[in-house]
Amino acid sequence: MNQSCKNCGHTFHGNFCSHCGQSANTHRLNFHSIWMDIRYGIFHFNDKIFYTTKQLLYRPGHAIHDYIEGKRLKYFQPISYVIILATFYGVLGHIFHLHIVIDNGEVDPVFSKLGLETINDWILKHYSWIALLLVPLFTISTYLAFKKQGYNFVEHLAINSFLTGSGFYS
Ligand SMILES: [Zn+2]
Repeated sequence: MNQSCKNCGHTFHGNFCSHCGQSANTHRLNFHSIWMDIRYGIFHFNDKIFYTTKQLLYRPGHAIHDYIEGKRLKYFQPISYVIILATFYGVLGHIFHLHIVIDNGEVDPVFSKLGLETINDWILKHYSWIALLLVPLFTISTYLAFKKQGYNFVEHLAINSFLTGSGFYS
């Protein structure tokens, strides 16, 4: 049965609008629909985060290859993935008072003058920004090193985002 999309007006057949992707099953807003939307949003988000993390831990090469080749629906977008994971690591580090900079007696005098505690706090607070700055740096180096593999710069960006997000470089 053909129907008219409530979002864009396109006439389509099936469960989703072939033009904008909205579901054919769009009911009137009520408490039930809000609850379903929230559940869908949260579960979808969690599913993608967990699926991506699991794949990156157990089969990073395959996962990244799949994603680049176009198998993307189940994966979290790589750059968003780094931002979320790095923020998460930063918060965890803050909660558990992780020490990224450790005083082993050989600390650079500039560092000890500033106070290790301060530096540590600063790193944890800005962890997602640091990760975001590191990704382009890693990308430039892998792009130059593996240019012959045929991946373009943005594909390298995706590879490095996934690797950074899954903690590969730390
Ligand atoms: Zn539509």
